[in-house]
Amino acid sequence: MEESPVLRNRTSGYTCVGTSKRDQTDRQREDASRTSFTDSSMDAMGLEPSNSDINGPRDAGQDSGVEATSSDSSSAESTGVKPSRKRRVVRDRLMRERSLSECRKRSTKQKHRERSNSEPSVPALGGGLADFLEGSKRVVAGAEDFMMNVLQASWRIVHHHKLPEWLQDNEYLVFGHRLPLNSFRACFKSVFRIHTETGNIWTHLLGMLAFICIATYTLSSRYIDWMWQDITVHSVFFGGAIICLTFSWLFHTVFCHSESVNKLFSKLDYCGIALLTVGSFVPWLYYGFYRYPVAHIVYLVSIIGLGTGCIVVSLFDKFAAPEYRPVRAGLFIALGLTGVIPGFHFVVIEGFQCAVYEFGFLHLILMAILYIGGALMYAFRVPESIYPGRFDIWFQSHQIFHICVILAALVHFRGIQIISHARLTSVRCSLHA
Ligand SMILES: [Zn+2]
Repeated sequence: MEESPVLRNRTSGYTCVGTSKRDQTDRQREDASRTSFTDSSMDAMGLEPSNSDINGPRDAGQDSGVEATSSDSSSAESTGVKPSRKRRVVRDRLMRERSLSECRKRSTKQKHRERSNSEPSVPALGGGLADFLEGSKRVVAGAEDFMMNVLQASWRIVHHHKLPEWLQDNEYLVFGHRLPLNSFRACFKSVFRIHTETGNIWTHLLGMLAFICIATYTLSSRYIDWMWQDITVHSVFFGGAIICLTFSWLFHTVFCHSESVNKLFSKLDYCGIALLTVGSFVPWLYYGFYRYPVAHIVYLVSIIGLGTGCIVVSLFDKFAAPEYRPVRAGLFIALGLTGVIPGFHFVVIEGFQCAVYEFGFLHLILMAILYIGGALMYAFRVPESIYPGRFDIWFQSHQIFHICVILAALVHFRGIQIISHARLTSVRCSLHA
């Protein structure tokens, strides 16, 4: 807020410098004006200032406001009688009080003027209080109607039983489903809306961004002794994770576009799972079995071949049909077990202690728990199957599964860091020391 202009007292000629800041105390204002007034009034009367006033301002009294006091002074001089010290003190006090009062009035008026200029007008209260409250209610109701119209204009969210058959996936999510949108633009706009897929989209969208950052940082600050094989196996892992998460959030974004788009992106989603699985175990097998060339090659070829087979099969239309659900599940479980079997193999040939330090075995077990736990919650639709309708938007089983996938991938990355460090620095566990 700006400072108020300088107020000049026309009667006494002293300047009252007030500010419109509300935290400035009246005492400060009074002290300032008292000092100014004393000097100016004494100047105006032609009297000598006291010792305490010698250093005060002496030109303020030259204003037009000195007329009244000048006349008093001149009349006293004309009569040849100098006013006594006591009379001067009394007169000064009266003039000071009068001037201070006028200064306050002017300052208050100035504050009101500034406030009325800077603040919006407020309806009068008192008798108009009821009208004011009624008007406020109408404004709020109008805003709510406007927001509802905007939401309704964007799309409708409906109950599960109103969905077409190809969109009826989870009957325990009662309300909040998107209808077929038939527009990619509308599908991507729905990323920023609240519905049953909002959590599924954002969990893997944010996961994808996180892995892009981790991959960029890791590959740009790699060890000096990294060779092209090290960069390749790390890139395979990061590529699999980023592609999987990307296909996943894209699938959840556009799967309500139309039936054909739904089928296409569900295939890509399956491919992403296969790529993440293969990408996770390639660096693990590469570093873990580097001293066992045969097992090294057999396991790497097996996981890559099985992963490629999963991707090819995922692209068949029949693979997505309900009657092939067991085949689908069995194929992906086999793909996952291809990574677990080498872990136990390593324990058998090297021992548990070496498996922990050189093979990141504990990370492997934690990763398996996360994957299996998330998959079981997804398969049994927990918790929405226990409380139908309560987890329509947040904390539904598919979101939990998504979070488990991200956590498992992060655990896997940490395990890869451990075993790659052991391999590159030739650190052996105590059994081989
Ligand atoms: Zn998903």
